[in-house]
Amino acid sequence: MYKIKLKFVGTSDTAGIPIHNCKCAACEMYRKEGRFNSPSCAYIELAGGVIFIDSGSDELIKIRERKKQLAQFLTHFHGDHAYGLLRLRHSAKEIPCYHPKDDKGFADVLQRPHGFRFVENIPFQSVRVDGLEFTPVPLVHTRPTHGYVIKTPNKSAAYLTDCSDIEEESLRFLQEQSLDCVFIDASYDTEYNDVKHLDFNMANKLVELIGVREGFLIHQSHYSLSYVLNHNIELKYPYIFEGFEYNL
Ligand SMILES: [Zn+2]
Ligand SMILES: [Zn+2]
Ligand SMILES: [Zn+2]
Repeated sequence: MYKIKLKFVGTSDTAGIPIHNCKCAACEMYRKEGRFNSPSCAYIELAGGVIFIDSGSDELIKIRERKKQLAQFLTHFHGDHAYGLLRLRHSAKEIPCYHPKDDKGFADVLQRPHGFRFVENIPFQSVRVDGLEFTPVPLVHTRPTHGYVIKTPNKSAAYLTDCSDIEEESLRFLQEQSLDCVFIDASYDTEYNDVKHLDFNMANKLVELIGVREGFLIHQSHYSLSYVLNHNIELKYPYIFEGFEYNL
């Protein structure tokens, strides 16, 4: 049977890692290893094509030259998740782009969709793409934001970014899904939190509350990553990085 993979192109916050001129532990580690982590975005590779979640890396343009893009899912219209749409909308064949309703949106792409067919999500209502089921789940953030529960014939996972909390209805829905795995926003460390995102302790607690076996943290900043490195913190549910793959 063909293995379905969820592949992370980037797992960082808006800034990416390393930050220009920054000498923190995370940035120095990335620089020494010749790595770069772009803003969080991922794709699912199927036999028949690829499905993108968010768009914060030009790497996606190259990926869909290898395999055709079947659909685009957008968590929200913040720039680090949506800017890639400027280029991804250029396709000679129509591609559905699912997104939360947001009156501010991203005017440049919504008014000139080119190859994209924009489809407003209805919370908790699934859409199917090539045998996979995607269900938008509202999250608490500074713009209307939807995480996605993704179900394949084998497994189910939730992609939950960006968020500072999960409200009762969404939490209950996630608990009822018998999820195998959760990927969740943990932008902050425990000393810095301006309430737009979760810190790693809050994210770990939410993974436990949802009740899954496997949990992974994403959308890290260089600050939160440095904090974990400097304090040798062992997280029950750890951060993942660019290039991480999960068998779905
Ligand atoms: Zn973000
Ligand atoms: Zn840094
Ligand atoms: Zn955001």
